[in-house]
Amino acid sequence: MRAFGERLRDLGHRIIFLKLDDPQNRQTLTGNIAYLLQKEKISHFEYLLPDEYRLDLQLRQIAETLPISCQTADTQHFLTERGELEAFFAGKKRYLMESFYRWMRKRYDILMDNDKPFGGKWNYDQKNRRAYDHRVPVPQPLFFENDVSDIYRTIRNQKVATLGEIQPEKLIWPTTRLQALALLRSFLDDFLPAFGTYQDAMTIENWHLFHSRLSFALNTKLLQPLEVIEAAIDTWEKRPSRIKIQQVEGFVRQILGWREYMRGIYWALMPDLAAMNYFDHRADLPEFYWTGDTRINCLRAALSQSLKRAYAHHIQRLMVTGNFALLAGVHPDAVDEWYLGIYIDAVEWVELPNTRAMSQFADGGRIATKPYVSSARYIHSMSDYCDNCDYTWNIRHGDMACPFNSLYWDFLNRHRRRLRKNPRMGMMYRSWDRMDKKEKRQVLIQAAAYRKDLSRL
Ligand SMILES: Cc1cc2nc3c(=O)[nH]c(=O)nc-3n(C[C@H](O)[C@H](O)[C@H](O)COP(=O)(O)OP(=O)(O)OC[C@H]3O[C@@H](n4cnc5c(N)ncnc54)[C@H](O)[C@@H]3O)c2cc1C
Ligand code: SF4
Repeated sequence: MRAFGERLRDLGHRIIFLKLDDPQNRQTLTGNIAYLLQKEKISHFEYLLPDEYRLDLQLRQIAETLPISCQTADTQHFLTERGELEAFFAGKKRYLMESFYRWMRKRYDILMDNDKPFGGKWNYDQKNRRAYDHRVPVPQPLFFENDVSDIYRTIRNQKVATLGEIQPEKLIWPTTRLQALALLRSFLDDFLPAFGTYQDAMTIENWHLFHSRLSFALNTKLLQPLEVIEAAIDTWEKRPSRIKIQQVEGFVRQILGWREYMRGIYWALMPDLAAMNYFDHRADLPEFYWTGDTRINCLRAALSQSLKRAYAHHIQRLMVTGNFALLAGVHPDAVDEWYLGIYIDAVEWVELPNTRAMSQFADGGRIATKPYVSSARYIHSMSDYCDNCDYTWNIRHGDMACPFNSLYWDFLNRHRRRLRKNPRMGMMYRSWDRMDKKEKRQVLIQAAAYRKDLSRL
């Protein structure tokens, strides 16, 4: 915001920017608006529609009480308007991302061959599931060295509660549009050629692999989604032998599909979404989520990197930290609080539907066709985390049995009434039903012992 403010000033705009410690800062939105209206003798009030429900409500309430004319303007940083997804799915029980994505592809004429998808397929997800095999070295990442020490000092002086680690004189994330564009260029030139292939892979050796790390720049509006998509397609068109369709389609799907879809879900389901808790989960979030101090190696890796970098890629968020919280029965409020607090890209419109609905299934399946839960098998197949773990990935009970295994079966057993009719869960319940009675009992005893004191794991 500060860099943006300075840029606007350089371009000749008149702006008023109230810093956190400005003596004129009334420290509330209502107070600051009232103060500025009076001081500047403002006769017409316009604001950009915010992305967050709470702020939207607050601004509407403020506008209603003002004695001057008010108007809103929509943001240019999304490809759909707030209510469009809800209208698209009107009358439908489920909001299927794939049908929304196809509609968006046609609407924006992206990767289309007349009215057919380019290459003959809408989705190359099947080719985007390889574990990291070191065949392609991870390119040198572009990290910035932004000195934000003055902001850091202000935050400390104002006693704002913080968590995680920071090197304030070397913030690696882009803070200006020029830096954001440079990060985009670096991703397209060096990382996109392997993006799709290793999209779901996780390794202890590298915290970002081939991911773009663009979410922060996109969410803070340093980049526009359409320019990112168009730049990706342009790069692919210029180098078709180096960048395959599955790489570029995989990337486009994230932004044209998932990002817009999540925003539409947010506006369709708010404010109810923020209180949903389909499984009635009540457990506390284990203390180690805030410290990384656990023997569970996959969690230790994902948590420590999140605390240190304020970043984890999608599969770490969904299948490690999110999966564990769901299996352990953590209250979705606590899970949301953590995700919103920890990531550099966390803003409620995108954090809440991803966490509460997609990862914790707290919406009862409006967006995910089944809960994203897995035993250690998935983590073992997609990462090298299990190689150096105190727990053993293929053991269900006993001293060093991987907690994901017993917690997984325990979760299915506990929620049988809610999940048994889900056609995508049938195979899992058949496997559970086939399991020997004694084995089942031992698994459930193991899970109960783990759940009794999650923080000790
Ligand atoms: C539990 C959970 C919480 C999440 N919280 C956030 C959040 O607070 N903020 C956030 O931006 N993303 C969130 N995501 C989505 C996703 O994990 C991040 O967008 C992604 O990891 C950011 O890294 P990247 O820029 O390297 O992404 P890449 O893998 O390079 O993907 C490219 C871009 O696609 C978009 N994208 C990809 N997946 C999603 C998605 N599921 N929803 C929305 N946009 C997506 C992002 O803008 C991202 O920058 C969350 C996912 C989960 C499972
Ligand atoms: S063995 Fe289990 S706890 Fe350890 S890294 Fe693998 S999945 Fe995680």
